[in-house]
Amino acid sequence: MAGPSQKLLSKRWPWLAAALLLVGVYLVSLVDLRIGRPDSRPIGDASDIQALASRDDVNVLFILVDTLRANHLGAWGYARPTSPVVDYVANGGVRFARQLAQSSWTKCSMASLWTGVYPTKTGVTRFEDMLSSEARMPAEVLKDAGFRTVGLFRNGWVEGYHGFDQGFDTYVRPFGRRPSKEVRRENPTVTSSNTDDSAVAAATEFLRVYGKDGRWFLYLHHMDVHEYLYDEDTAIFGTSYRDIYDQAVLREDRVINNLLVFMAEKGFLENTLIVIASDHGEAFGEHGGEGHARKVYREETHVPWILSFPFRLDPGVVVEHATNNIDIWPTVLELLGLPTPDGIDGVSRVPDILAAARGEPAPEPVAPGYAHLDQTWGRPKEFESRMTVSVVDDGFRYVMEDLPRGKREELYHSDEDPRELRNVVADHPEELERFRGLTEAYLAEEPKWEAEPDLEIDEMQLNQLRALGYQIP
Ligand SMILES: [Zn+2]
Repeated sequence: MAGPSQKLLSKRWPWLAAALLLVGVYLVSLVDLRIGRPDSRPIGDASDIQALASRDDVNVLFILVDTLRANHLGAWGYARPTSPVVDYVANGGVRFARQLAQSSWTKCSMASLWTGVYPTKTGVTRFEDMLSSEARMPAEVLKDAGFRTVGLFRNGWVEGYHGFDQGFDTYVRPFGRRPSKEVRRENPTVTSSNTDDSAVAAATEFLRVYGKDGRWFLYLHHMDVHEYLYDEDTAIFGTSYRDIYDQAVLREDRVINNLLVFMAEKGFLENTLIVIASDHGEAFGEHGGEGHARKVYREETHVPWILSFPFRLDPGVVVEHATNNIDIWPTVLELLGLPTPDGIDGVSRVPDILAAARGEPAPEPVAPGYAHLDQTWGRPKEFESRMTVSVVDDGFRYVMEDLPRGKREELYHSDEDPRELRNVVADHPEELERFRGLTEAYLAEEPKWEAEPDLEIDEMQLNQLRALGYQIP
């Protein structure tokens, strides 16, 4: 005689229901597992953002992805699936849609990012320039507040001897294994002995040992996108420079995923403020050149900035108006309830974040943003500086380039012409005059601190930088 369970087995619907349930669980898990496991952070809102400043358990993870161009990421509207994990983080936190890097060359850009002042005021615009010891660095503020401070960097331009180690208890290049064979097979000319995986391995080791022993600030400066490194799994877009760059972005996304999965598993996501940023973008011939550290058009200066809290925002917040890399640390320090150094150009974007989180309009008028490159940065100081400055304001980008035959000016209506290809100088004489005045005033600024003696970089160090593709005589 058939029992009830056999009767059930002979019917078709329970199987169908079970199969649908399994598919459903799988789909749900895909949604929740983009960082490797269900994200256990609670949902938060504007009041939780404000309350961060009075918490005494919040750590800071700062991931600087060198050479990461904003509009090659899904969260910034890119059609290719290059960044599911970064998108996930952005969509549950704060995304700054129009973020401007202060230069297209790492050393100049990072000096401004850390100190919150524009390149004319950091005095770091050429390769011998050293960041002043008088500069008050975020790592110093955090260290004084009791954080354990660790920097793991993979770009030679931010070496300690350039002045970038101020405030770090530990500031090292992570040593690691050789790149995996999957990476070596796709990148037979790979010059570095390791990859961003080494930085993540060093970071997880640090977290394993010290992660629960007081507050910490961890800075990772990743380089694999700069080096166009990808592997067999991410070789899905093609063989042009742009394709390979996108493959490197996708691989980097997985590297970041590995770190976040570790942090999720060990319970670090619930008390860590995560900052993702970049020092500059990358050109693919939009205005003639390829690469970076050559011009200050949008493709080289529009970068991502993401903040992710110990809780998720649902929906995430987007700050739509123009912001700058010099705003990153004033914002992070205010979020943590820590003092911002005096007299800086960068402004805290906490009011903008809170307004956006509450669905209110942006609270303050937006000041112009500047990006700056000394075309002679790689030359000895006998060569007179030739400045290129880009000013972003009011939906326009003005570009002034000091060429041997005289100054060249361009004006783009970025809102109508996002690729900035149609020079509208002739149509807007008043705007042109205004931007010219802003640029002259900007270039007249003096370094804020006493200059350090010029660096003497030895031939071996120069060779390491040449190996990164920089054209240094
Ligand atoms: Zn860089």
